[in-house]
Amino acid sequence: MQYDTAIIGAGAAGMMCAAHAGGRVLLIDHAKAPGEKIRISGGGRCNFTNMHCAPNAFLSNNPHFAKSALARYTQWDFLDLVERHRIAWHEKTLGQLFCDVSAKEIIAMLRGLMQAAGVDLRLQSSVANITRRESGFSFDLQTPDGLRRITASNLVLATGGKSIPKMGATGFAYDIARQFGLPVTETRAALVPFTFPQARFAPISGVALPSIINAGAASFEEALLFTHRGLSGPAVLQASSYWQDGAPVCIDLLPHADLFTLLREQRQRSGRRNLTTELSRHLPTRLVDFLAEDMDLGGNLADWPDSRLKELADTLKNWQLTPSGTEGYRTAEVTLGGIDTDALSSRSMQSREVPGLYAIGEAVDVTGWLGGYNFQWAWSSGMAAARAIAT
Ligand code: FAD
Repeated sequence: MQYDTAIIGAGAAGMMCAAHAGGRVLLIDHAKAPGEKIRISGGGRCNFTNMHCAPNAFLSNNPHFAKSALARYTQWDFLDLVERHRIAWHEKTLGQLFCDVSAKEIIAMLRGLMQAAGVDLRLQSSVANITRRESGFSFDLQTPDGLRRITASNLVLATGGKSIPKMGATGFAYDIARQFGLPVTETRAALVPFTFPQARFAPISGVALPSIINAGAASFEEALLFTHRGLSGPAVLQASSYWQDGAPVCIDLLPHADLFTLLREQRQRSGRRNLTTELSRHLPTRLVDFLAEDMDLGGNLADWPDSRLKELADTLKNWQLTPSGTEGYRTAEVTLGGIDTDALSSRSMQSREVPGLYAIGEAVDVTGWLGGYNFQWAWSSGMAAARAIAT
């Protein structure tokens, strides 16, 4: 069977591209349903974009690569699409836009657009033996109905990254990219919780508080969550994308508070108050009790001279912890790294060396922050390829 465009991967990027590429489009996925990560995203409400989306919210070996696609199909363009489909939405925090009702509405919108465009969607199907001649690509397509040889002028790799293998994530796009001579940068799990040896934080698992976390040159002010295995919460997930193996992260447990001044003033007012009681006014009590087991926090405020109060305040505002690792692809929201952007046109996502071969979405070495940025990259890069194919 002959198509103009074959797209492998019916996730966010693949569906966006399929709906807008024009011509005869075949969209293939080995899963039972398209857009499974959309369905589970944002706690079932899909954080589909971010109002503050800008290139600085993306990590890549080439920090300029994402600019063109993000500028040509913006968060406002996707929001416009959502509104035209009467999907109710709200801003949760920090510019993050969510569906009011269900992530399934985003999938239904994309399926509707694909149906209108006459896209041939093949689920529970796999691709093998891809070859390329002057006229285009050909490959074996195994569907539940049988095996057939497909030819297509354009081939779009949209199979995402390696995160959550349980949901069908594979390194397929990387393998095919390599087969056609496109380099792939080193990949690793990102937007992922940190682990610590000996379940260090198990006694305070479930404790959450506002924090600022610094990892490398990056700094994020969001919630921190202690877990059985280590640290999680938005601030930690963000920091994980910038973390290097073996490096410490630095946590401010009291953002914007001048703890030293607060403790000193309280000492003047009520010196007989226990230090831990006073600390519990600023931090969760379970965390204070936990810290008290490691540090000597005994005595009344009056027993603590300025020098010790200052040292304590500095420690709590600059808590250095070295994770032993991360939870890996098993729970990571995204994969850092991927198909090298040097091999692609930033305007069209087409390979510079292999005409007709495109790569979009998470498969490419572009990774967004937590908060709707990764879906925006999927929409923008999917649209960039679709427009190039359509013209
Ligand atoms: P995917 O959506 O991963 O789609 C790839 C598709 O390819 C899948 O359907 C898969 O089945 C298919 N596939 C893989 N290998 C093969 C193969 N060999 N043959 C055939 N098909 C194959 N981002 C946000 O911006 N906001 C959020 O709220 C958000 N929440 C998330 C929550 C979770 C739990 C996770 C894991 C991720 C979340 N993300 C979120 C990240 C976001 O889901 C991804 O960045 C985005 O889905 C990437 O889109 P994609 O189309 O490139 O890849």
